[in-house]
Amino acid sequence: MTAGLVAGVDIGGSKALAVVVDDANRVLGQVRLPTERGAAGVVATAAEAVRQATEMAGSTLTELTAVGVGIPGLVHPSNGSVSHAVNLDLGADPVDLSAALQRELGVPVSVENDVNAVAVGAHRLAGARRGDLAVLSIGTGLAAGIVVDGSLHRGSRGGAGEIGHIPVDPLGRWCSCGQRGCLETIASGSALSAAWQPAHEDGSSVWSAAGAGEESAAAAVRSFGAGVAAAVRLLVLAWDVEHVVLAGGVTGVGQPLLDVVRSELLAAEAGSAFLAAMRLPERVSLLPSQSPVAAVGAAVLARDSLLESFTAIPDTLLPDSSVDEMSS
Ligand SMILES: [Zn+2]
Repeated sequence: MTAGLVAGVDIGGSKALAVVVDDANRVLGQVRLPTERGAAGVVATAAEAVRQATEMAGSTLTELTAVGVGIPGLVHPSNGSVSHAVNLDLGADPVDLSAALQRELGVPVSVENDVNAVAVGAHRLAGARRGDLAVLSIGTGLAAGIVVDGSLHRGSRGGAGEIGHIPVDPLGRWCSCGQRGCLETIASGSALSAAWQPAHEDGSSVWSAAGAGEESAAAAVRSFGAGVAAAVRLLVLAWDVEHVVLAGGVTGVGQPLLDVVRSELLAAEAGSAFLAAMRLPERVSLLPSQSPVAAVGAAVLARDSLLESFTAIPDTLLPDSSVDEMSS
């Protein structure tokens, strides 16, 4: 059974990116629109992006079999509602995104946390090289999406991958989650800004200053790199994932990020034959910046959910089951 054309939308704080893909995950249409915030704005943006991507694919909404959405915040995969997406002005009251978008488009809609969507997209795009994979998303916060045995691992209550809130320093800074010394207070974009910006309000980048040899910037980058390296180590030791793919806003800087993380991993290995045997540096990579990974991942999840709903039909309700029974 095939699903035909499915759409995926990645909704970020400033832009939404929609794709339409075929059964082989080839992108047939792709559109990027500015995101309107608030519940009504998010629904309108996602609907318009899907319409335009579908048109660009030379197709119509009636030919789409499913739509997947990747969105930041707390997502309830069972009903597709979203809350606590601060960058989108969605608060504590869950917004029923799946139902609202389904009404707009007339197509079944599934909703997933954006980091999970990136993980699934990265896994599919890895093609023949794919193995178990974790995406480590480093933005304002820090979180991971985990694909094991080809499937997204959500955990029993949807909390798998919230590694940013593992406390690693009992005397560290207080975290927005109410705990002290969370990994996120060391290894996130906000942590990096907090470690360097107060003394440098001219807007220059900590990365360029570190590259130019400024010691305070270099120290901030090293501390941040050590935090990201700790997150990589944690993911590999907990899951033995073959790939840890760095994603999120901070990865915009590119190679300097990968360099500092690898260098911190090598430093940790130098004192531990056990860690060296894990070959951590070679498992780390950067998410390709130009490919629509999250949107493709959202589309793949929507297709999987659609196909699962078909296979969930009890055998007794399938048309040919009585024939099987009679012949057996
Ligand atoms: Zn925390």
